[in-house]
Amino acid sequence: MRLEPRCSHCDSEDPKIISLRNPAFERYCGRFCLDKGHENFIRWIRRTNAEVAS
Ligand SMILES: [Zn+2]
Repeated sequence: MRLEPRCSHCDSEDPKIISLRNPAFERYCGRFCLDKGHENFIRWIRRTNAEVAS
């Protein structure tokens, strides 16, 4: 059984954009959500890097 893909940001059905970074789990319904998803990812990377550096 497979779950229907949902937008990773707003959870809407039938997302059309698949993230190149993580095609198995990250899908987005449009540009806006794609950008929001990338923002979250960049924030996460920066936080991870900061923790590693300290
Ligand atoms: Zn969306």
